Amino acid sequence: MTERVCLVHYHEIGLKGKNRATFENRLIANISHALRNMDVSRVCRISGHLLVEANDGAATQQMAHAISRVPGVARVSLAYRCGLDEKEFCSAAVRALGEAPEPWQTFKVHARRSSTDYPLHTLELNQIVGAELCAAFPQKKVLMHGPDCTVVVHVVQGSVYVYVDSGPGVGGLPVGSAGKVISLFSSGFDSPVATWMVGRRGAVCVPVHFSGRPVTSDESEWLCQDIIRAMAPSGVVGRLYVVPFGEHQRQISLVVPQSLRVLMYRRVMFRVAERVAVWEGAKALVTGESLGQVASQTLENIAVVNECVSLPVLRPLIGSDKQEIMRRAEDLGTYEISSLDAPDCCTLFMPRRPETHARLDQILEAWELFDHEAMIDELVERIEYVDFDQCKAYKPPKHLRARHRELAPA
Ligand code: ATP
Ligand code: MG
Repeated sequence: MTERVCLVHYHEIGLKGKNRATFENRLIANISHALRNMDVSRVCRISGHLLVEANDGAATQQMAHAISRVPGVARVSLAYRCGLDEKEFCSAAVRALGEAPEPWQTFKVHARRSSTDYPLHTLELNQIVGAELCAAFPQKKVLMHGPDCTVVVHVVQGSVYVYVDSGPGVGGLPVGSAGKVISLFSSGFDSPVATWMVGRRGAVCVPVHFSGRPVTSDESEWLCQDIIRAMAPSGVVGRLYVVPFGEHQRQISLVVPQSLRVLMYRRVMFRVAERVAVWEGAKALVTGESLGQVASQTLENIAVVNECVSLPVLRPLIGSDKQEIMRRAEDLGTYEISSLDAPDCCTLFMPRRPETHARLDQILEAWELFDHEAMIDELVERIEYVDFDQCKAYKPPKHLRARHRELAPA
């Protein structure tokens, strides 16, 4: 009986030698989790691919789409799974090619065999299936180099998988295979994209958002949550920390020179994020900075903020243009939400003329104008969090669980 299944292809994890099984298991767990609300019966390994089976034997385009967004997935094919019977797989090939989106003119058959003692070889398979397709589509042509459609006929053990469509996945590595990072997360375009990029390389991401509350409303906090939900199938975020920063920003703005305010806010943000990293066992911070994009993102200013932390700070967007970032945000599904304007700590107490080329001596002097250590302690005390169930690999810090549950918003 012919069934529909999803075949998942991966590149990079194939290269990991001895770690391969660990990576594959991570990917299986993450795909199962991304499909947890769909009618999936099994996700398993077959000969260099993963196989996703539906309870009713009819995997759907919707499943294939969700799988394609999981980091570690290079391509997904919605395939027909047949027995070794020639008639059965030939008619599946006719159906598969018949479903290829028009317009197309040319096709070829690409037969493969893995771990099978099936007597037909790939050349014979190509000929048999090719002849059937030529008869079924007399107006179309066979083209060996660069055809519009390739019909893959893959014999694996006792089954034949037949498919044409093979949508691209997001690539990268399975989330949970590269440790944990703390990402400085606003509701703007950049930081969600930066977070996703590091997540796509296998890191579990723990965003920390600084809100302007109680001086501003909590709107930016809700937008951050919506953004994280929009990123859901990629499964990179398990928990969002929220730091109400408005009152402390006001204190800073009263004592430091106006032009250096933003840099002071940012140093405090980095230090609080670094404290969260210690609880979480995270090995780096991530920001959405892009060189020269705004006043605080000059090389000098990046350096004087960076100076206050000892963890590495990853800036995956440093060389990206705003247009590229916006396009990524569209693909990621965060664009619409990020275009909504909400006041957060960045719009609060902004100087008219921020320093663009800060000197370290100037910064260290301003840093001493307020009790930054006490402020950092106080902010850490007031941190709240919200959990998300999208990230299979996220493990919350054990020793903090009880205390944070009290602090979490109801
Ligand atoms: P974004 O689009 O990510 O908001 P931006 O273009 O507004 O970035 P900045 O305001 O200079 O640029 O912020 C640079 C980076 O600092 C952000 O990408 C983010 O990593 C971090 N950041 C900014 N605002 C916040 C915030 N309210 N909470 C946490 N991190 C923030
Ligand atoms: Mg912003």
